[in-house]
Amino acid sequence: MKTNQIYDYIERLGNLLRVDSRRDGAEHGLQPVQLEALHYLSVCNRYSDTPKATSEYLGQTKGTVSQTLKVLEKKGFLRKVTDDNDKRVVHLKLTSAGDKLLQQFIPSRQFKEACQHLSDESQTQIVSCLKELLQTTQRTNGMKTFGVCHSCRFNQKIKADRYFCNLTQEPLSSKEIQLICREHEEVV
Ligand code: SF4
Repeated sequence: MKTNQIYDYIERLGNLLRVDSRRDGAEHGLQPVQLEALHYLSVCNRYSDTPKATSEYLGQTKGTVSQTLKVLEKKGFLRKVTDDNDKRVVHLKLTSAGDKLLQQFIPSRQFKEACQHLSDESQTQIVSCLKELLQTTQRTNGMKTFGVCHSCRFNQKIKADRYFCNLTQEPLSSKEIQLICREHEEVV
C-alpha cells in the first residue's frame, strides 16, 4: 500500500498551492479561502452558485462562507443576483474584475510553469489518477461529488448541442454541461 506516500505528496502539493494563493491573494487583500470561493463560483452551474452550495463545496461553515462572500462583494469581485423564479434564492455571479483576477492567479504562475515541464502523457496520467482518487474519497466520505454536468446520470443529450436535465426538468446548453453541479450524481 502506498497510502502514506500518496498522502504526503498531496499534502505537500496542497501546502505549496496555498503558499501561492496566500502570496497572490495578498496583492488584493484576499485570503486563500476567498480565492477558492471565487474559483468555485467561476466553474459551477446555476444550481450551485448559492451561498449554501459554496459552503458545502468548501467544507466551511455558513458563517465563514458568508463573511468570505461579503469581502468578495465589497471588493467588487462578486455580485448577488436574485433568482427570477424564487425571490428567496440568491445567485452569486463573478464581475468582470473577478474574472480578471482569476485569470491572473488561478492556477498560479508557478503551478503553470511546473506543469509545462510535464509531458502530455504524464499530464493525462495525473488527471486520470487524481480523478479516480477524488471520486473514491468522495464515495468513502459520503460527500456530494460536485462533478461535471456532462458526466451526470441525469444529463440527457437531446440533439447536437442540446441537453436536458432529468432532475430539474430544464434544458441545458453545451456550455453549461462543462460546469460542476451540487446535484451531480455519477452514472451507476
Ligand atoms: S444533469 Fe446532473 S449535473 Fe447537470 S444540471 Fe442536472 S443534476 Fe446537475
